[in-house]
Amino acid sequence: MSPSPVASTAAAPPQPNDTPLLQVEDLANYYPVHGGVLRRVVAWVKAVDGVSFSINEGETLGLVGESGCGKTTVGKTILRLLEPRRGAAYFRGVNIFDLQGKELKALRREMQIVFQDPFSSLDPRVPVGQSIAEGLHIHGIGTRREREQMVIDMLRRVGLEPYHAQRYPHEFSGGQRQRVGIARALVLRPKFIVLDEPVSALDVSIQAQILNLLRDLQEEFGLTYLFIAHNLAVVEHISNRVAVMYLGKIVEIADRDAIFQRPLHPYTQALLSAVPVPDPTVKRERIILPGDVPSPLNPPSGCRFHPRCPFARPDCADAEPELRELEPGHWVACHYAEDLGEPTRTARRGAA
Ligand code: SF4
Repeated sequence: MSPSPVASTAAAPPQPNDTPLLQVEDLANYYPVHGGVLRRVVAWVKAVDGVSFSINEGETLGLVGESGCGKTTVGKTILRLLEPRRGAAYFRGVNIFDLQGKELKALRREMQIVFQDPFSSLDPRVPVGQSIAEGLHIHGIGTRREREQMVIDMLRRVGLEPYHAQRYPHEFSGGQRQRVGIARALVLRPKFIVLDEPVSALDVSIQAQILNLLRDLQEEFGLTYLFIAHNLAVVEHISNRVAVMYLGKIVEIADRDAIFQRPLHPYTQALLSAVPVPDPTVKRERIILPGDVPSPLNPPSGCRFHPRCPFARPDCADAEPELRELEPGHWVACHYAEDLGEPTRTARRGAA
């Protein structure tokens, strides 16, 4: 876990209103595994298996978990970059998965994505101004001159200069390329953006700049974010609420402060115990989980976390725990969350 890029500048993110912009219900997405001479489907990788959450207008929901837990698949499926196996995702009350043709195209203008590596999503053969304008062209927005002006305005807004429009992706630093990626997403003036590990590939000093830019843009344009990350320190800085994923399921979801100060699920407690605390007077007990994350091809029975859980009991392998609201707005998928001792809950903060 890398150190927090923003520990000294942490502050409350912009406050959302309480109108749901996006509601995801029982979302599942499986990837086929092909085998044999005829390349038949012989198994399914259950990347996402029954995920539900909502995001209010102006809110940032952090979606965290280890690599391969399914968080990127959630983001891409909501945007219809991948087709769902089952479930629904309502954007302003309309099920995204029911839309086709013009309706889907119109929705895509309102929902955009910023990738971890913008270099891979930019055509290396065309100037970045052209890449940023591509969405405007596809949606028939403005004349050519108007589109050029929109690109210049957006470049300025993300901290670049108008002359950068003529430059090629390889001429930019990592941080500048991510600013281009943000400009490309924002030029269509969307309402909702999936930020898929947007600072993971950047130096720590640059991470703070990009996170602060994202917060400023959220306030200015009234944006709603799904912020996908494996780094809890980054999520703490920018999120209003946090959802923790493990092996295709959400295991805990709550307000940011509740997650970071009173994590109730053993997996969240283990993740938090690995986050550095920038205070030498605070002791921290590191929780080392045994083994690796099991394969989503054949997830464990009952609670999927039971082979690694320090508190597993025999019946944890039988019944799958549902998300239960243990405190107002604090949902946990663990049969015994109420019984877990205080020392584990305060593992990150340590003894007073
Ligand atoms: Fe651990 Fe059992 Fe809770 Fe799963 S249900 S997190 S195995 S105690």
